[in-house]
Amino acid sequence: MKVTQLYAPTLREVPAEAEIVSHQMLMRSGFIRKATGGMYTYLPLAWRVMKKIENIIREEMDAKGAQEILMPITQPAELWQESGRWGAYGAEMWRLKDRHGREFCLGPTHEEMITALVRDEVRSYRQLPLMLYQIQNKYRDERRPRFGLIRSREFIMKDCYSFDRDEAGLDKSYNAMYGAYSRVFTRCGLNYRPVEADSGAIGGSGSHEFMALAETGEAELVYCSKCDYAADVEKAELHEIVAADEALQDVEEIATPDCKTIQAVCDYLKLPIEKSVKAVAFSSEKGLILCFVRGDHEVNEIKVVNTVGVPEVMMAEDSELVAAGTAGGYMGPKGLDSKKVIVIVDNTVMKMHNFCCGANKAGYHLLNVNPNRDFTPTYVADIRLIQAGDPCPHCGAPVAHARGTEVGQVFKLFTKYSGAMGAKYLDEDGKEQPVVMGCYGIGVGRTMQAVAEQYNDKDGMMWPRAVAPYEVIVLPMNTKDEASTKKAFEIYEALQKAGVETVIDDRNERPGVKFKDADLIGYPLRVVCGPKTLEQGKLEIKIRKTGEVKMLDLQSDYIKEIKEILETL
Ligand code: ATP
Ligand code: MG
Repeated sequence: MKVTQLYAPTLREVPAEAEIVSHQMLMRSGFIRKATGGMYTYLPLAWRVMKKIENIIREEMDAKGAQEILMPITQPAELWQESGRWGAYGAEMWRLKDRHGREFCLGPTHEEMITALVRDEVRSYRQLPLMLYQIQNKYRDERRPRFGLIRSREFIMKDCYSFDRDEAGLDKSYNAMYGAYSRVFTRCGLNYRPVEADSGAIGGSGSHEFMALAETGEAELVYCSKCDYAADVEKAELHEIVAADEALQDVEEIATPDCKTIQAVCDYLKLPIEKSVKAVAFSSEKGLILCFVRGDHEVNEIKVVNTVGVPEVMMAEDSELVAAGTAGGYMGPKGLDSKKVIVIVDNTVMKMHNFCCGANKAGYHLLNVNPNRDFTPTYVADIRLIQAGDPCPHCGAPVAHARGTEVGQVFKLFTKYSGAMGAKYLDEDGKEQPVVMGCYGIGVGRTMQAVAEQYNDKDGMMWPRAVAPYEVIVLPMNTKDEASTKKAFEIYEALQKAGVETVIDDRNERPGVKFKDADLIGYPLRVVCGPKTLEQGKLEIKIRKTGEVKMLDLQSDYIKEIKEILETL
């Protein structure tokens, strides 16, 4: 490809709405253009990257025996009514009507359609297991589309579905997909972690999200410094911490004037913070919820929501606290009326002795409060937010904190859709059984942008070769110099012939401009051919990612050398 013909219009000014570096760079370097809110056109460079990612996905799906299909994007409402999701999906779903007034949606995902397909075609255990996938546009009218391709309203997803006879079969399919996903993201060059996405109901192994690590990621994660445990902070389980045994003391009320925070109380009373318990108050549709955790711990709202079984919680107002017989800043688990307030105590607090907490009376705290003897909560649960340095729930080593962007998710559906929609097969004994399903998604555009987010510097992007739009750019330094320009074209053609995806910057531009654009677009390898190096019988190559420069001998088999270097990038 000649740069004079390449449609990659660069931008000097990046639109203000491009908040993160990958979005800015993809815009600046002419990879993508916004068509309208949350919808983008992939220009030639981006589309080449997308196709490479898609092909990596295809290879890994096919290797696991999944077969590619293509379903319609437009789906009839009836299918979604059968599963119960037509109502549940809400405003994120794009809905439309045909000329007869029949309702449809643009598929945000395809569980319903594929379950209907399999229900009609699969009758016997002999047809299972089965894995089908497609790569296709998905539509979600996101509340806040942002970060370019990371959260858009129309995006390309690979979605795969597995069908098995039983849970053991599902486990096998799930593990196969988990392995395939690990290979896909590794081949794309991503620094990622698979995290447990589900702790409660299906036992921790029901779903994993593949998180590309990124400072700008929406998800907060923790990962173990020693084993391969990683989890979303919202979902990370925590074991209780058991305090050393000690003799129980009598409760004592003590004035703590002007002590607004637990730290202030502990400073005032000269107590270690681990001997204190603090409270966070929420209001919910079930009423006031008071949560108690150790003074140096934080409350995880999601765990509170799950414990009580409410759709959401909000910060409680002072008036609600007063009505429930307590006071902001002075809440404690002792003496609360369980008819007026839901009390959740973190399981670590239940293992503490003689702790200090609010007296439910403004200006006072209690000393030597003890669980069971002094109070009985409505719920004892793990409601703590995991923090960096906390022990890993699997091996006990300290966990580290990171942020991430979800690029893929694997999910055990069990019989959720097959049950609701009647996808059954006949087993060996001729008995009807529901098909056991799994679903597996990868965002192709989001993956591309996650790679760009991890591979860049101040000058531009640095694509790993496996997903780079082209592998090499050849730069003739002075198009007015005939000999070196001719040589540059020779090299360009020889590289192409050798199967290397190559671009030549044939513009009549200053070297500085060419260098800058090559760095911005992020070709893994740059080959410079100018009058000076030609005179010396040399060719200058530079590796984008490391900045390493090498001089190759024009008398040697430099094409082979270039190919060898590319293998390492
Ligand atoms: P999120 O929590 O980020 O909204 P999700 O969990 O709803 O994503 P899934 O239904 O699991 O997404 O979809 C599978 C994959 O599709 C995601 O892992 C992600 O890579 C991609 N994806 C989902 N929503 C979007 C979007 N709005 N824009 C781009 N890619 C998306
Ligand atoms: Mg997901």
